[in-house]
Amino acid sequence: MNYLPLQGLQPELNAQCWLILFEGQIVLNGENPEANFLWYCLKRFEPAIKQVPIVTGYLHGKSVGIVELSSLTIEADTVSVRALLSVSDSTVYSFLSHALQILTSRREHAFCGCCGQHTGEKEGEWAMVCLNCGHHAYPRISPCVIVLVTRGDEMLLVQHHRHGKASTMHTLVAGFVEPGESAEEAVHREVLEETGLKLSNLHYCFSQSWPFSHSLMMGFHAEYKSGELVLEDEELCFAGWFHRDNPPELPLEFTIARKLVDIFI
Ligand SMILES: [Zn+2]
Repeated sequence: MNYLPLQGLQPELNAQCWLILFEGQIVLNGENPEANFLWYCLKRFEPAIKQVPIVTGYLHGKSVGIVELSSLTIEADTVSVRALLSVSDSTVYSFLSHALQILTSRREHAFCGCCGQHTGEKEGEWAMVCLNCGHHAYPRISPCVIVLVTRGDEMLLVQHHRHGKASTMHTLVAGFVEPGESAEEAVHREVLEETGLKLSNLHYCFSQSWPFSHSLMMGFHAEYKSGELVLEDEELCFAGWFHRDNPPELPLEFTIARKLVDIFI
């Protein structure tokens, strides 16, 4: 069984199950033992539904969609997207990643980026189309690179300010690809900017769709070539080398950062 995403909006298709979001959190259905993040019926939420529910694909053969609430009018637990992703299998991950990005696109493209007028949906596409000038805004996908840098039996790991002072989690150097840049150039630039190091033997490994909020993470492996560690301290609070036999706390297993580390340790 798997997740089969629709290639565009199918307004006539109803969903058999719904993912419901409220204030960025997923509303849990305590009555659904099979998958407590899915609801079979939207009726009791109807007054609080923000915009037209979106059917996004087929999960385990059942049509499935996503909807966002303006208020939560029933007693229900909620869970963060990140927490649910961390306990999901790859099929559910695919659904969550796709549906959340479609919802984000719908929210971010409610108005035309060219003329500022309202947009509307278009059957058969995920684009939002300007009702005035016809501009098509497709779901945004932002390419990011992430790289495991190794030096013999050691790997380069960093800590970010954004994870908070209390965090002991170590991760990999990553960053967005700039306009006009190749993914490989972005890896070299990010590592040099953030750590002062130069790389050799850079090669692509695999990628992961990352719904915070619409990244495509492209994972690389590279070897240390030259340079001394110089921390870029606006973003990072630590960078250092760790032996593969003695790693510190690492990102959760479902993340591409962890998958890149796991092929080395
Ligand atoms: Zn327009």
